[in-house]
Amino acid sequence: MAEVYTGRFAPSPTGLLHAGSLVAALASWLDARAHGGRWLVRIEDVDTPRCVPGADQAILQQLAACGLVPDGPVLWQSQRGDAYAAALQSLVNQGWAYPCGCSRKEIESAQAVARHSAAVYPGTCREGLNGKPARAWRLNVLAVQQALGLPALTQWSDRRLGPQQQNVAQEVGDFVLRRADGLWAYQLAVVVDDAAQGVSHVVRGQDLADNTARQILLQRALGLPTPQYLHTPLVMGANGEKLSKQNGALALDLSDPLAALGQAAQVLGLPAQPAPHNFLTQAQASWTRLFISRPH
Ligand code: GLU
Repeated sequence: MAEVYTGRFAPSPTGLLHAGSLVAALASWLDARAHGGRWLVRIEDVDTPRCVPGADQAILQQLAACGLVPDGPVLWQSQRGDAYAAALQSLVNQGWAYPCGCSRKEIESAQAVARHSAAVYPGTCREGLNGKPARAWRLNVLAVQQALGLPALTQWSDRRLGPQQQNVAQEVGDFVLRRADGLWAYQLAVVVDDAAQGVSHVVRGQDLADNTARQILLQRALGLPTPQYLHTPLVMGANGEKLSKQNGALALDLSDPLAALGQAAQVLGLPAQPAPHNFLTQAQASWTRLFISRPH
């Protein structure tokens, strides 16, 4: 591989790490180590109202307690506003981003009329605001695809899930780059920062897999490279839903980091580690067998 492998773990500091988030952290670390690459941590604190003060430092401590220490400076998205603004401006200059004046209610009623499924933005403001004040900024998906000669179906291959595809215009619509409250949208921030940090491989939870097509389109629109992707299995809570801070996942019990790591390894399908003193080294070898040397 000619490029320098750079991986990352990108937690949102909306609470402490739990058993589910450790799976993504461990997997991204193992993949970087197994490739002889670098592993970075990015604190995704763009959604400031949802961030918990001090959670960023606490997360870094939790990672360190598990032996997962970044190989370079930690990046905080809250300090990256200028880079996001420059990216949005370049899209606006190309005619690929437009202001949207729709309130949530207006979007819902337009969806009902156009019989769009609930999650799809119906494109109301694509041709102009019609006198409404600008609230959010959206990507004009079809304009990007037409200008760059991209197919309607965005296709990519996930290293664990295999071939994936999404028709972003039909299944998502013109998605938000800057929110009505002025905050930067996850899609824009993640794409700008993955490129700025030279991330070549993204390893993250499977709940994020369906954001990938949007991110690939944005990478094309901004002239940025597309990393390789691997989405890890989710940990399910007692209610059968994905374990998350929202459904009350407990912070990792770091009185026994090895037990926490062992559970995360199990979720990843890695065999039980017989010798706890070099857990991470052994897990790395198993990871290589499972996700790197096996033919795709
Ligand atoms: N910050 C996101 C989260 O904690 C992860 C983003 C990503 O890995 O792309 O769910």
